[in-house]
Amino acid sequence: MNLKTKFLKIKDLILDALFPDKFKCIFCGKDIPSDFICKDCLKQDIFNEGNRCEICDTSIKEGNIVCEHCQKMKRHFKKVYSPFRYDGIVRKAILQFKSDGAKYLAKGFAEFIAQRLEVEQLEYDVIIPIPSHKKTIRKRGYNPAKVLAEELSKITSKPVVDVLYKVTQTKNQKLLNYNERQTNLENSIMLLNNSVIKNKNILLIDDIITTGATIETCAKLCNKAKNIYACAVARRT
Ligand SMILES: [Zn+2]
Ligand SMILES: [Zn+2]
Repeated sequence: MNLKTKFLKIKDLILDALFPDKFKCIFCGKDIPSDFICKDCLKQDIFNEGNRCEICDTSIKEGNIVCEHCQKMKRHFKKVYSPFRYDGIVRKAILQFKSDGAKYLAKGFAEFIAQRLEVEQLEYDVIIPIPSHKKTIRKRGYNPAKVLAEELSKITSKPVVDVLYKVTQTKNQKLLNYNERQTNLENSIMLLNNSVIKNKNILLIDDIITTGATIETCAKLCNKAKNIYACAVARRT
């Protein structure tokens, strides 16, 4: 390797360390001239599009308005917004963001959430991250939902109010059905300050939405708010 190549390599390494999200596709990491997603990833079925439940944003049959879940039970939130489908390359990137320290991905993810909220002209006053237990935060180094909230706040200028607190660590939710999840979650989260949400339009934020049980629990706790909305990077469909 000659000196010039060596220098260019070091320069790239420094730039990558300083700006890890600069012109890199959020899904495959490929260098791109601008924006957040490369052409190849854009060609994939990543966006949460098509006919979706008007409450929880999950895919439903053409002609239907709300999903079975939202028909059966009362939802304490008005509507969920999630730009991507939780599958394939999106799932992989979110797992990197949550568990492999790829915190820098939050900026790109928040950009797409912001775009979706703007398209839908959502009016809200504060952004509230879904809490993580302090042990999980210690392990990961951060609460992914809070990092997303802060990035969204930079784009939208809406304040983040971190008022939900995870009291106990919940058991592995994956093995439980909706009702079991709900019971498991009740009492595991508390609202620290009622006055900051009272009569406000609030936007809960999380990395992914699977059954909506966590959002529902948090929405129930925030029942003094005027309207409760929720958003996430991706929705399991
Ligand atoms: Zn890509
Ligand atoms: Zn629904």
